[in-house]
Amino acid sequence: MATYGWIGLGNMGAPMTANLTAAGHTVRGFDLDAAAMAEAEAGGVTPVGSVAEAVQGADVVFTMLPKGDHVRAVFGGDEGIWAHADTGTLLIDSSTVDVETSQFCHDESARRGFRFVDAPVSGGISGAAAATLAFMVGGESEAVEAAAAFIEPMSGKTIAAGGATTGISAKICNNMMLFIDLMAAAEGSQLADRLGLDPKVFWEIASVSSGRSWAQQTWYPVPGIIDSAAANNNYDATFRADLALKDVTLALDAGELTGVTLEAAQLAQGRFRRLVDDGLADRDCSLISKYVSPDGTA
Ligand code: NAD
Repeated sequence: MATYGWIGLGNMGAPMTANLTAAGHTVRGFDLDAAAMAEAEAGGVTPVGSVAEAVQGADVVFTMLPKGDHVRAVFGGDEGIWAHADTGTLLIDSSTVDVETSQFCHDESARRGFRFVDAPVSGGISGAAAATLAFMVGGESEAVEAAAAFIEPMSGKTIAAGGATTGISAKICNNMMLFIDLMAAAEGSQLADRLGLDPKVFWEIASVSSGRSWAQQTWYPVPGIIDSAAANNNYDATFRADLALKDVTLALDAGELTGVTLEAAQLAQGRFRRLVDDGLADRDCSLISKYVSPDGTA
């Protein structure tokens, strides 16, 4: 059994760590948010009071944080991971961050004698709870191979993407596709409603037809169709609107750097920015469905 240090126990970190403890591993967890700490503790995590306490003597350290700035803050500085972990500890960032932050973590880890991999995930909180997440892992092959064993209790599929930052690059492309699909599900579901279709019947038709997608199957933005979708739970976030805006913006930034025109992603960015501007940053990203009808209500 292994000892994990874990920083970031939010919507994803809590169910991921619960699967580790269920598999018999020790997880020392830290989050700035008291409610997140309490939920993780209920899932078997040993709560600690700092990053330093979480990482000292751990076999592996995972970070599952909102954005690149959080990751840089948690790794760096006098209180950070690099200052307190042993160099034998494998460092794994599973947050969705910009390529530059990930490259910085690779470079700085190597400079300080650590092994580091970027290992973002796909599958949402339902995949996190079911231990079926897809992990896409980038880094030196020896570190990527070592990471697989630590990832296994949380994963349905772990794919070695290649060298440093290839995991996060794959994740950015994947999530751009997801959020464009979510736009399609939002618009298709509202149009079907206006055309007089029974919502459940239309969802069943799309599910066996070419309109099927992960967003349509998992985040369908209409109440009464998918139990675990945010639409059935007052749009409490399973994936926050501001994190969706972050992910689409990461793709657009990468597109600008590489000279790729991403017009559908620009439309999605506008929708998520509108949710954030309307004060709904911490609500679920599938609430974009409310902007489909002219009066702004779904
Ligand atoms: P979240 O906001 O629910 O959780 C992030 C946690 O990090 C919060 O509890 C916050 O308090 C904590 N945190 C922030 N700064 C910290 C610090 N300095 N020290 C300790 N804790 C700190 O976000 P989430 O939905 O769990 O997502 C985490 C990451 O995973 C994001 O990058 C997101 O894009 C990605 N992701 C999310 C999903 C999803 O469906 N929610 C799916 C795949 C990937």
